[in-house]
Amino acid sequence: MPQKRIFSFGGGKADGNKDMKDLLGGKGAGLAEMSNIGIPVPPGFTITTEVCTEYYRSGKKLPKALEADIRGAMKKTEALVGKKFGDAENPLLVSVRSGARVSMPGMMDTVLNLGLNDQTIEALAKRSGNPRFAWDSYRRFVAMFGDVVLGLKPEKKEDRDPFEVILEKKKHARGVKYDSELPADALRELVSEFKAEIKARTGQGFPDDPFRQLVEAVLAVFRSWENDRAIAYRKMYGYPSSWGTAVNVQSMVFGNMGEDSGTGVAFTRNPATGENEFYGEFLVNAQGEDVVAGTRTPQKIAQLEAKWPAVARQLEETRLKLERHYREMQDIEFTIEQAKLYVLQTRNGKRTGLAAVRIAVEMADAKLINKEEALARIDPEALNHLLRPIFDADRKKEAVKAGKLLAKGLPAGPGAASGKLVFFAEDAAAWHARGEAVILARHETSPEDIRGMAASEGFLTAFGGMTSHAALVARQMGKVAIVGCEAISFDYHARKMKVATEKGERTFAEGEWVSIDGTSGEVLEGRLDTKPSEVVQVLVEKTRAPEDAPVYREFAKIMSWADGARRLKVRANADQPDQATTAIAFGAQGIGLCRTEHMFFGEGKIGPMREMIVAETEADRRAALAKLLPLQREDFRGIFEAMGHRPVTIRTIDPPLHEFLPHDEAGQAELARATGKPLAKIRDRIEELHESNPMLGNRGCRLGIAYPEITEMQTRAILEAACDAAAKGVKVEPEIMIPLVGSKKELDDQAAIVHRVADEVLAARGQKVKYSVGTMIEIPRGALTADEIARTAEFFSFGTNDLTQTTFGLSRDDTGPVLAAYLEKEIYAVDPFVSVDRDGVGQLMRIAVEKGRSSRPGMKMGICGEHGGDPASVVFCHEIGLDYVSCSPYRLPIARLAAAQAALKEASARKAKPARRAGARKASRKMAARKVFRTRR
Ligand code: PEP
Ligand code: MG
Repeated sequence: MPQKRIFSFGGGKADGNKDMKDLLGGKGAGLAEMSNIGIPVPPGFTITTEVCTEYYRSGKKLPKALEADIRGAMKKTEALVGKKFGDAENPLLVSVRSGARVSMPGMMDTVLNLGLNDQTIEALAKRSGNPRFAWDSYRRFVAMFGDVVLGLKPEKKEDRDPFEVILEKKKHARGVKYDSELPADALRELVSEFKAEIKARTGQGFPDDPFRQLVEAVLAVFRSWENDRAIAYRKMYGYPSSWGTAVNVQSMVFGNMGEDSGTGVAFTRNPATGENEFYGEFLVNAQGEDVVAGTRTPQKIAQLEAKWPAVARQLEETRLKLERHYREMQDIEFTIEQAKLYVLQTRNGKRTGLAAVRIAVEMADAKLINKEEALARIDPEALNHLLRPIFDADRKKEAVKAGKLLAKGLPAGPGAASGKLVFFAEDAAAWHARGEAVILARHETSPEDIRGMAASEGFLTAFGGMTSHAALVARQMGKVAIVGCEAISFDYHARKMKVATEKGERTFAEGEWVSIDGTSGEVLEGRLDTKPSEVVQVLVEKTRAPEDAPVYREFAKIMSWADGARRLKVRANADQPDQATTAIAFGAQGIGLCRTEHMFFGEGKIGPMREMIVAETEADRRAALAKLLPLQREDFRGIFEAMGHRPVTIRTIDPPLHEFLPHDEAGQAELARATGKPLAKIRDRIEELHESNPMLGNRGCRLGIAYPEITEMQTRAILEAACDAAAKGVKVEPEIMIPLVGSKKELDDQAAIVHRVADEVLAARGQKVKYSVGTMIEIPRGALTADEIARTAEFFSFGTNDLTQTTFGLSRDDTGPVLAAYLEKEIYAVDPFVSVDRDGVGQLMRIAVEKGRSSRPGMKMGICGEHGGDPASVVFCHEIGLDYVSCSPYRLPIARLAAAQAALKEASARKAKPARRAGARKASRKMAARKVFRTRR
């Protein structure tokens, strides 16, 4: 049987439901579900995403039977509405909208008021008793159809929409400022002028046949799936092009039918803060796109009560019903047609990280969802939002006092940002690429600005409300944003921004610094210092009490729920005692990687380190190492004391030695002085140490093998520090880790040194300290011979930075130009240095886990590459049975939540399994009964 291509909805029932997002798109599934639960939805139908894929597969052709299917579905809609599509007496008009399985705000196309022509317009005018409304709808339709379906929308920023130019002229000729002031006859003239423009530009007349209009609009929506904006958006979020978009054809209701009509968008909770309040905006006598486009600043939902109390009540009931039903914050679009409410869309609302945490905690506390659901709903990356800097209150006060407060707008994206003003998205991207912090300031933003928005620290717009494009994108990208800041205006040509301040007009040129507070909506001139977030103030700085920190308290709740759910332990990559303290504040259960070489860059340490490197005899080298020993011992003692009973993994020296050497004249002269060697000799030695490919050269365990005295010194420093800490009552357990091991013999060599020196130290101190020796698995040979290596190694830690570099054969320091092209062409779906490549690097990790534990059952294993703080990689580490992930301290909350989500996912898959097995058993019994065939296992 052919796949069902069209799903109808309306009249209290629907063919589809909320779980069919893949097939019906998010919008289609939402409309079906709302119909099913009795929310007033204008009837219509959804053409599935599979039709879109079919369209592309067959060389951009619609399936043959589709037109007949559309006619059939239209009949059902007509019956429900009591109007006829294309009828000269009582015409049905429809909207045609895109709708992919995830929301892609403004990326694809929409046509409203479809079905109007020179006959149906007369009927609409007569039936509505409002010719002005009818002609307003018609001129909007012709322009939209021209833009979207006939391709007249300007491609370049400098070009203007041809219909807007004509509209401007008309307003000028009629002496009015706003569209809404144009009378019916002017709108009628506009329709003719728009049609003439279409004819002039395309050589074709405007299609009068409503069914043709509909088919053309469906095609245009499918085409828009592959427009530049949609492609860029999909790339940014990693959505595949194979998903396709659905098309929703829905009977029109009109928000522009007069003063008792309107349209709006609302969130069932505040999407910026998460507060449990109905939050949204509406415009009187307007159509939907007027709100989202952000070209008119709308009124707040709270004002609806005074204007239309009955509608406000109905809307509040709908809000509660939707939240109870979806058990999730919803983002709705509604239209009021002559005082009657219709809901046109519902979907899970996008929110800031701040709001995500608050909503999840409050819904769980109210028992609307359980804790597991609360955890599953927060994108781990969104926790960054709670750690993001804010302006220092005193600095800001001073700035305000000094008259630097320029204007106030709507706080759409919390946090603080300072940057140089730019007015075009392309400039934002270019300036960012050369290392500048920029604030993108514009009248409003639109979907084609998406790349520049990603490159900006924050956005500032003159128009638009909390649901405008800039606000939506800010929430999604976690950017600082202020929208609807009416005091600002722009002269794009002169690249200037004007601000109407209390003291008169001020002008700012491109490149001048501004600061924006996305939590309060304040715009300040100049660059302003930021300070740590509330969470950081409580946890790290300890300058704020938890009782005075509501955001922190919600964060702490989520973290404690996550800790209760996860199996993976979390450790931090930290090299200094203060980093260790921060790591503990963020929940570290140990240190997974202490890069000892980072310590050598500390005060007073680089000198002896350089002396050690340029030494030409073992004796000279030992003399330099003797200077380093007490310095390293102090660092280690500090870390052990900060970490207390928690395990600490310390890695012996790893990077190529020349990284430490001075490459400038002054540095080399200084080294010559310190070592008493001639400058020329120092230069020669530096030259000698030069490597063509240092990442694959004399580094890692190779250094310790060539210069055993380095490993000796480091082991001595670690064990002596451990003895010192143990003597103070700290229960230390150092894990000494050898890097870049590819064969058991390398590790044997280094482990023997460690054990010998450890024995010496412990005997001399007369103390007992438990320690272990393990290795990093960071080159493919190490992974492939992990069973051998595990006979010596007591633990493994995956160094996925190097493992990715060596598996891909792609230098981790030179990825920029390669990755840009690879990601662009979708050769790599994501940057493998950010998220573990499951198929290649991941396979090596699986092999190493299996082989390692085959020789040493229950062997402790973790990851300490950058991937340890990437949510998707954390899930992978859970799946392959690692014991812990280690990441930078500030990513620990993300890792804790991601680890909890991984455990919950596994638990729910385990629960689902028996059912599947039972299903499979049933099916196989059926097969046997039918005696179809049997195979021997
Ligand atoms: C790694 O290679 O993943 C690792 C943690 O070591 P480094 O980044 O120091 O080479
Ligand atoms: Mg490494």
